[in-house]
Amino acid sequence: MPLDNPFASGPSSMSWSCNVKKTYTICCLPGDCIGPEIMAEGKKVLAAVGKRFGCAFECNDALIGGAAIDATGTALPDETLEAARASDAVLLAAVGGPKWDTTDPAAPRPEQGLLKIRKELGLYTNLRPVQIFSALAGASTLKPEVIDGVDMMIVRELTGGLYFGVRERFYDEEGAGTDGKPGQRAYDTLEYREYEIERIARQAFEAARKRRGKVASVDKANVLETSRMWREIVHRVHDADYADVELEDVLVDNAAMQLINRPADFDVVVTENMFGDILSDEAAQITGSLGMLASASLGDGVALFEPSHGSAPDIAGKGIANPLAQILSVEMMLRYSLDMGDAADAIRAAVTAVLDDGLRTRDIADASTPADKILGTAAMGDAVVARLQ
Ligand code: NAD
Repeated sequence: MPLDNPFASGPSSMSWSCNVKKTYTICCLPGDCIGPEIMAEGKKVLAAVGKRFGCAFECNDALIGGAAIDATGTALPDETLEAARASDAVLLAAVGGPKWDTTDPAAPRPEQGLLKIRKELGLYTNLRPVQIFSALAGASTLKPEVIDGVDMMIVRELTGGLYFGVRERFYDEEGAGTDGKPGQRAYDTLEYREYEIERIARQAFEAARKRRGKVASVDKANVLETSRMWREIVHRVHDADYADVELEDVLVDNAAMQLINRPADFDVVVTENMFGDILSDEAAQITGSLGMLASASLGDGVALFEPSHGSAPDIAGKGIANPLAQILSVEMMLRYSLDMGDAADAIRAAVTAVLDDGLRTRDIADASTPADKILGTAAMGDAVVARLQ
């Protein structure tokens, strides 16, 4: 059922303002632990957007991660993939939890669902905006003068590199310990193809043109062959088509330091899969709360939107999770997949207003936050909805 359909009620359909179509089909993947709690708030906000902007969202829930393993034995059932492919966009919450932790390589793991859906939908670009809401500047562990003006976009390659390479663990004589018995050995392979680097570089340069015109390309070209190829291709694309964009190369170890030293200097940061995974969590921490950061995974077809944080098993079921990253993922979905920039701006304004009014979930509250301003998950969703209406 559509969450809200203004066309069902006669003349109110005249308030139609979406310029693409009446009903959007959204594949919703709540996943595990706090996933269903924050997804409920994302849906509330979608319903409010539908009312205000005169369109409807048909949300179809499907299984992924641990919930899917429990129900079907696999982390990404075929029906989920079909539902995702048939939708206008995919909204994911988070997967994983101790229940499904295992070191048995043959056992299904929740994150396999994530990796597979990215691969199957061809989602090779992960965009992670890192911005400071001024009301939350005090939540960062960095000094105010260091984080002042932080506004960067991490562009992470998402379907290549170490996470998708051939890997193996086995016993052999060479790995033998001092007891002379065969020892364990393991390897993972890091491979990139030219076209994978070229297309992610283009995404980064395009993003920079819409922002402050600067790209920092992060690699480990002093050691890794894949990084040397990365650097060569990024420069080739730059020199041929994006010479107007400022480009700097930063070694990944240096990038880890510079993100803390001078975060406001970065505009677009582009990097390969594993470096991007690590650096984007580091950058997220600059803002003071993982619970505030959204991400978009884009390819050439249906795109996927999700919070940057995990499934937070430590607070699952308590009704205290911060739903704002999920709500800001809805913002990104409207902006990047549904061509609803006005609605996306309205969500951002509503979230900013909530924070400016001093409302906080526990993770972003501090000692000075009055108890009556500390909200649970559902109340925070309601507060955003109230400011959207
Ligand atoms: P996490 O992001 O789930 O939690 C880290 C810390 O941040 C915890 O203290 C948690 O309570 C807090 N936190 C996270 N999101 C929050 C929110 N919305 N509101 C308030 N506090 C929040 O990372 P983790 O503990 O390393 O991983 C937990 C599980 O999540 C693991 O199973 C991991 O594999 C999985 N995970 C999933 C994804 C994903 O679905 N994309 C990403 C990362 C980790």
